[in-house]
Amino acid sequence: MVNAKLLYRDLCRILKARHFVLPKEATPHMLIEATAQAALIQAGDAWAKSHSAYAKHRHAAYISAEFLTGRLILNNLLNLGVLEEMKTLLAASGADITCLEEEADPALGNGGLGRLAACFLDSAASMDAPLMGYGLKYRYGLFRQKIQGLDQAEEPDEWLTSDDNWSVRREEDAVLVPLKDFCVKAVPYDMPVFGYKTDTVGTLRLWQTESLHEFDFALFNDYKYDEASLNKNRAEDITRVLYPNDWDDKGRLLRLRQEYVLSSATMQDLIRLHEKSGRSLRQLPHFLAVQLNDTHPVLAIPELIRLLTQKGVSFDYACRMAQETFAFTNHTVMPEALEKWSMQLIGMLSDEISAILKRLDKRAKRQCGLALIKDGRVSMADLAVYMSFSVNGVARIHSELVKTRLFPDWYKLFPERFNNKTNGVTQRRWLALCNPELTALLQSKADGDCIKDLGCLSGIKPDAQLAKALLQVKRLKKQQLSAWLKLTQGVDIPDSFIFDIQIKRIHEYKRQLLNALGIYDLYMDVKDGKLKDLPPVAFLIGGKAAPGYARAKAVIRYVNSLAQLINNDTSVNGKIRVCFVNNYCCSAAEKLIPAADLSEQISTAGTEASGTGNMKLMMNGAVTLGTWDGANIEIAQAAGEENEFIFGARIEELDAIADSYDPMALYEKDARLRRAVDSLTDAGFPDEDGALKELKTSLLEGASWHKPDHYYVLKDFESYRDARLQALRLYRNDPAAFSMMALKNVLASGIFSSDRTIAQYCEEIWKI
Ligand SMILES: *Cc1c(COP(=O)(O)O)cnc(C)c1O
Repeated sequence: MVNAKLLYRDLCRILKARHFVLPKEATPHMLIEATAQAALIQAGDAWAKSHSAYAKHRHAAYISAEFLTGRLILNNLLNLGVLEEMKTLLAASGADITCLEEEADPALGNGGLGRLAACFLDSAASMDAPLMGYGLKYRYGLFRQKIQGLDQAEEPDEWLTSDDNWSVRREEDAVLVPLKDFCVKAVPYDMPVFGYKTDTVGTLRLWQTESLHEFDFALFNDYKYDEASLNKNRAEDITRVLYPNDWDDKGRLLRLRQEYVLSSATMQDLIRLHEKSGRSLRQLPHFLAVQLNDTHPVLAIPELIRLLTQKGVSFDYACRMAQETFAFTNHTVMPEALEKWSMQLIGMLSDEISAILKRLDKRAKRQCGLALIKDGRVSMADLAVYMSFSVNGVARIHSELVKTRLFPDWYKLFPERFNNKTNGVTQRRWLALCNPELTALLQSKADGDCIKDLGCLSGIKPDAQLAKALLQVKRLKKQQLSAWLKLTQGVDIPDSFIFDIQIKRIHEYKRQLLNALGIYDLYMDVKDGKLKDLPPVAFLIGGKAAPGYARAKAVIRYVNSLAQLINNDTSVNGKIRVCFVNNYCCSAAEKLIPAADLSEQISTAGTEASGTGNMKLMMNGAVTLGTWDGANIEIAQAAGEENEFIFGARIEELDAIADSYDPMALYEKDARLRRAVDSLTDAGFPDEDGALKELKTSLLEGASWHKPDHYYVLKDFESYRDARLQALRLYRNDPAAFSMMALKNVLASGIFSSDRTIAQYCEEIWKI
């Protein structure tokens, strides 16, 4: 916690010294930069203290390829306890705090997995837990999504051009990472993670790769300009983008190098910290736990073994030390996301790592009768499970699937390793920051500070008056969102409409297509006069599609086509509006979530590991329209099943029909379903390359790699329609009852704070 007046004084001094201006004369970027610098000065002592305390006692490191932090400036001011006062001070000086919203979101992540990592750091710092985050500092991150015509186009996300105000380069902690045919320098950039209402400041350490030999003067002199910078580019390419295209071996090698640099630089750093505290190497597992966030950082295991053996530890002992140090989190049941690297590629990365992996494979076969390398490819997930003391899934149902479907052989051998840690989200960003109006309302009823301890919410009585107040807050947030949509997306969404929102990465298993087909179905019924009692409803869908994922991109085309058709049809646009929200990211989420009435969580049962978007929406008073999947189950159990709209086949039912499922029969039998599916090809939507047609084929005929409709869109179509109509009608007929359901969700959301999750990691896994 810092003093706002002192922070403001420094801010003024910095503006004057650097730009000769007063706050009211500063551009947004000047103001953002000076505020960040002033905050770093004011919190400098606290950060230094936390940093030097980190390795004194047992501590944990969280390695992740992604940290989706979201915009930092307002959250940092909130956590430092000065947001309100800074607002007042800036207003008094004639500057406007809302211009701080021009700070770019750091492009350091992709979706839920990266956002979870960011929530965890926030919670750990707020609870004074010694946790350090390790990641990579991507120059361009993922991509910025543009809509060209009806389709997604990708542009580089140049977030670093002016807004890297929160990282501190620590040249003195740079390390060398040996690759097969060259060596790169990894330089850490540290970002502070301010705890809420505490002096603890955590650290997110992001590695940037650089060349040891920036520039070849002789080549340059010899007019070979491109060759002169070859080394520089080759090194810097490694942290240029998040998830480089991996269609060919060149791209795959680049990804592998990224993962190795992250793993190696981090393990070198942790060993150095340990040795600096004057302890013997062999004590490392007593002082350090390393959490591997999915398989991307799993090379940290052979790398630790390499570093230990280099320092004289025997291979076997190093293996035991590694197994006592690492813990692994699995995030997905999608087989394509469980990384397997060919040993040939590993050979191109590093001979030493290749040799260690082969020895580990032999050891696993000898000890457990299970292989790590199959058909010449090493399975990173199997390696992680074999060499970790803890393996966890991220929601109750998912952790069961981890045991029974993903790693049944390992589970038989080491049942004690397997555990569940249901995800959570930080209420600092996802309540206090994005919804101060609801926060104030709850705070007026709560016993204690719910932003420090979200558990306070369970003590609030859900009465009719509070439900009414929630409805008013909702309306206000819808007005704000509506204005933002008009400004940024150019669409009109009246705030009197029900807001039905699905925001997440576009993926077949998340079934945005089910949502879109359902919208078409409702549209046609309204148009034909068959659905006279539909209350005005706006369908908002947002999310990025992976650049190489044709079907996900086709879904975006279909949603945009629906939007164009429906929003321009004056016979229905008083009842239905559709909006594809461009460039979904944290900052967009912060606008969308508080305004949602219905939270679309419609993944095929058994496919969404947990979901965290569902938790953010619940916390902000949206009712879940969802399947019995991931954390939806725990959300429904916490708030009461009668307070959600649950639909669709459950996992047991899908298992039972898997072999006999015949979507074509459903299509032929059900005219309504046929009308919706046929709209992909027959509604006159532009489809030059046949991507919409291919979506239809995927549902009815399948493809070489899957059976027809492998995510059961057609199967759940009818029950989805029924559940959605039931929700919309309840809102229309009895808004007070709907709002009471929403309120019960808010008040039950305490257990979905990432503070609860982190407390469990600390106690049950890290022992810190
Ligand atoms: C929370 C969040 C996600 C994860 O959403 P799910 O619905 O759980 O997939 C993805 N992206 C952003 C920007 C988020 O804030």
